[in-house]
Amino acid sequence: MAIDYRQARQRMVEVQLEARGIRDARVLEAFRRVPRHEFVEPAMAAQAYADRPLPIGHGQTISQPYMVAIMTELLDLQPDHRVLEIGTGSGYQAAILAELARSVFTVERMPELARAARERFDRLGLDNILQRVGDGTLGWKQYAPYDRIVVTAGAPRVPASLRDQLVDGGLLVVPTGSRLGQVLELIRREGERFAHERSIACTFVPLCGAEGWQND
Ligand code: SAH
Repeated sequence: MAIDYRQARQRMVEVQLEARGIRDARVLEAFRRVPRHEFVEPAMAAQAYADRPLPIGHGQTISQPYMVAIMTELLDLQPDHRVLEIGTGSGYQAAILAELARSVFTVERMPELARAARERFDRLGLDNILQRVGDGTLGWKQYAPYDRIVVTAGAPRVPASLRDQLVDGGLLVVPTGSRLGQVLELIRREGERFAHERSIACTFVPLCGAEGWQND
């Protein structure tokens, strides 16, 4: 029997997001719309709406739906925002951001993952996402500054290049800590000052690069 993905998605939103305190109506609607099962390999599609991260190949993962939702809610996106994402991975978080902001710029260091994500964006007609292969710890200078920046891999510390590519009043969400565990940090730019707040504990794959972990 065919799986009813729309129903699985509805349940995911109720049980994993609403019941745990995700309140923003626009965020919840984005999760009802984006077909998460299109962002994993066909063999994994039946598990796409499970309450956990899933492997996407090359040692990387698509984050747990709740984690994507928390990060998205922290970003407080407005429809006119330009958003930079570091760590395209499957492209799922980028697709959620694309529902809520004007344009999404996303950087992935692994060409194979970037290619698979591009095919998904094309297939789903997500035409407000621009992507690039490279070291995202250095941001994407060409289109800076950004209203919002989100890093979907764990960093040893906040990459200075990313902070510096925020508009005044802009927000950056980044998991920082050790390789094995991090805390979500929310950074707000106030002129040349940066205010830090700490949110929940989390576990992401390492952010590898010039301003991330080295020798990976
Ligand atoms: N946002 C993704 C989660 C991907 S996991 C999703 O929704 O599926 C984190 C990703 O960050 C991995 O694909 C990894 O290859 C990538 N990554 C790690 N270091 C990076 C860097 N310096 N620049 C860009 N991408 C990086």
